[in-house]
Amino acid sequence: MMMDDLFPEQAADALPAVDRASGLSRLEAFVGKAGGTYAKGRNYDLGPGRHQLVSCLSAHLRRRLITEAEVIDAVLSRHNFPAAEKFITEIYWRTYFKGWLEMRPSVWQQWLSDLDRLPRHAELEKACSGQTGIACFDAWAHELTHTGYLHNHARMWFASIWIFTLRLPWQQGAEFFMAHLRDGDPASNTLGWRWVAGLQTRGKPYAARADNIDQFTKGRFAPHGQLNEQIYAVDGPENPPASPLALPDLTPSVCDGRPYIFLLTAEDLHLDSLPLADAPACVAGLPALFGNHQLKAEKRWLRSPAVDQMDALALKDALTRAENSFAESGTEVINLDTDHSGQQALASDQLIDQTAQHLADLCQRLQVSDLVTAYLPVGFWCAHYQRLAAHPALSSARWHYVTRAYDRQAWPSATKGFYPFKSKIPAWLGRR
Ligand SMILES: Cc1cc2nc3c(=O)[nH]c(=O)nc-3n(C[C@H](O)[C@H](O)[C@H](O)COP(=O)(O)OP(=O)(O)OC[C@H]3O[C@@H](n4cnc5c(N)ncnc54)[C@H](O)[C@@H]3O)c2cc1C
Repeated sequence: MMMDDLFPEQAADALPAVDRASGLSRLEAFVGKAGGTYAKGRNYDLGPGRHQLVSCLSAHLRRRLITEAEVIDAVLSRHNFPAAEKFITEIYWRTYFKGWLEMRPSVWQQWLSDLDRLPRHAELEKACSGQTGIACFDAWAHELTHTGYLHNHARMWFASIWIFTLRLPWQQGAEFFMAHLRDGDPASNTLGWRWVAGLQTRGKPYAARADNIDQFTKGRFAPHGQLNEQIYAVDGPENPPASPLALPDLTPSVCDGRPYIFLLTAEDLHLDSLPLADAPACVAGLPALFGNHQLKAEKRWLRSPAVDQMDALALKDALTRAENSFAESGTEVINLDTDHSGQQALASDQLIDQTAQHLADLCQRLQVSDLVTAYLPVGFWCAHYQRLAAHPALSSARWHYVTRAYDRQAWPSATKGFYPFKSKIPAWLGRR
């Protein structure tokens, strides 16, 4: 399946396909603009198919088809740090949010429970289908569901109008984004919505203003008189304190030389840059549906089939690369995704049972008990993986994480606000 089949209105040249080669070409095309052009132009939302002033690399970074370190290296090979500071800082927003949520997983759990609790009103359906009568908002709802992407400024305006003008719960807005974004990410999305609501940076909500929208859409939209610009932060509990971060510092000797199966997930699809000294006996791709979530109350999957398919294609791309990378080592490469999983035909329990059984058979055939995967941060992949690890069919397996130096370096500093975190970036870059 091609990207155009997933999101039919996406012009062929608009957004890069979500595989490593397309991510690298987009990086190559964009890197020259990552200095002054980005700093000056990044706030302009020029509309679908015209997002050339930003990188459009989020879907690749989110899945680590290309890594943060790789993007930063490419940018610093063309610009000095002061010139590229704005762009590099944005990359570190992703990192900060990851670390912040990792140390406060209850914020994620609370969002999921809220989704099961909140009623679904007709106003919600109107907003999601772009029928509110606010032209900019309706156009962004359409762009999101038809391309899977929104510019950062549009995400901020959209979330603000959702919360403060339409008075809809932020949690359901975050659900709408997660359902359709090609880069849907537990940390950036949940905390991005909480930031707009004034819950993340306490008491400082973000107001979408008609003048600002007019200016930064270059007059495409001017919703004067339609927006509530007098806003107050949404009520909510204080942010929980940071819990200690236990990132295992595992080295390739993780399995003491025993053969192991590497489990590939769409949280980290660049196997070549993971610290693995020995080649795995087998690389097995977990089903793309592991990146989705079945809502308890309604029993439906949260994320759209188009985004599941995107993960399935990204996983396939990584499996093909693994075949090449380990061609000389006799590594077997297996895709545990089935045709059904991408189409959301399975219930969550069936998905776990089926995958556990496949994996148990594989362990037995290969005489392997060690299962290794790249660290899974808070989110759907991690939740499914934990259920897999607890499955009786895999009770004799030993489970190991490998972690990246990039995460170990930065995540523990996400204890307070972004600015103390940001002040450490030059030192981190110097020490890599
Ligand atoms: C309400 C809301 C929800 C969001 N949901 C997501 C999400 O689910 N997934 C996601 O990847 N991003 C999310 N973002 C952040 C940001 O909007 C996107 O990362 C960015 O628009 C992606 O486009 P780009 O790659 O062209 O960004 P660029 O402007 O080119 O930035 C380069 C990279 O920096 C990172 N980045 C930039 N801005 C942010 C930011 N504000 N927060 C975190 N990382 C950032 C991304 O990895 C991005 O690819 C959200 C922002 C808001 C306000």
